[in-house]
Amino acid sequence: MLMSYSQPEVRELPSGYKFEHPQSETTIRLDFQGRWLSFRCGVYFYRRCMNGDVVCGKGEIPLHCSEKIKLTDKIATTLGQWDQNWNGHNRVKSLLQTASGLDFNYYNRQAALYRAVYPEGVPILPPDRYGDLVVQPVIGCPNRACTFCAFYKDKPYKMLPSDQFAQHLLGIKALLGERCLAKGGLAKDGLFIGSANAMALSQRRLMAYLQQIDACFDPFKRGIAAFADPDFSAPRNASQWQELANAGVTRLVIGLETGWGALRGRLGKSADLTRVCHAVEDYKRAGISVGITVLAGACEAGQQQENVQRTAAFIKALGLERKDIVYLSPLESVNVDRKLRAQELRLMKQHLAVCSDAQIVPYQTQRFRYYC
Ligand code: SF4
Repeated sequence: MLMSYSQPEVRELPSGYKFEHPQSETTIRLDFQGRWLSFRCGVYFYRRCMNGDVVCGKGEIPLHCSEKIKLTDKIATTLGQWDQNWNGHNRVKSLLQTASGLDFNYYNRQAALYRAVYPEGVPILPPDRYGDLVVQPVIGCPNRACTFCAFYKDKPYKMLPSDQFAQHLLGIKALLGERCLAKGGLAKDGLFIGSANAMALSQRRLMAYLQQIDACFDPFKRGIAAFADPDFSAPRNASQWQELANAGVTRLVIGLETGWGALRGRLGKSADLTRVCHAVEDYKRAGISVGITVLAGACEAGQQQENVQRTAAFIKALGLERKDIVYLSPLESVNVDRKLRAQELRLMKQHLAVCSDAQIVPYQTQRFRYYC
């Protein structure tokens, strides 16, 4: 690649700086610590993930270690050249200087810190919350019986005592870095409470965790979201839901999968959908937006039409609004007939568009990355 030594154009973003060098078709985004977040070079676009992975394009396969070393060197060299030619603001020059000195070992140490802070990793987020900061006062899933889900099979449901959660929050702050926090310039504009079902926590515990979070971070523009399984949630009255909304909870995401009770039962969830209906009513009454996940490809051949109709009718009855979301997720399994699954997805989308005001969003779980 032809590398140019002239000065790039720079723009300050809420999360750091964006450097663009049109002559070499190179764009680099840095955070306020000088760490690279994304790197575009010609048609190639790379992003760095919190766990140390670097992905190119849609990000399904992370780069090998040797490729990562080369890429880190290339980015550092480019930043070093820009630093030498920089004649603008001193603060940008100092950032370029710092950034050009961050080598592969530095990023490796960051990845090690990530593993210490998130020992169970961050397995999945809903697609509109990929940009969230994740905190995990609780890990695992209290159900773990779903036939199609491999995320938490070997991870028992466990909550952190408050002193360990305080350590977890301090670890997250260390990962983000003082300069990012001081600027109020987190790349992340929402907060997600992991893992599979934060609503299984009692109100008292959840409120205590929310207070710890509030003491640690400025409020997040998009508020707080979490997965919720109404069949494994602690009982709450209307004022307790309101208390959660007042504490910043803006969205709860329920894994419905299907509105056909019998099929849902076969998938490892409750066949009785009453609790889901009541939960949606509770959330909405408190002003909390709802997310509903729906699975395509889970029913037997010949049952797609029935599944779509029953699911659409169930979702219609929930009375979702425009601020609510239905996530359409294709089941990833070797046994799935891809053609039938694609038909079912199309049909589901058509029916839902007619019978619900909610946004319909594709949800491809294998695409998830916890990006920096
Ligand atoms: S409830 Fe959700 S997270 Fe838990 S096993 Fe089922 S699909 Fe997976």
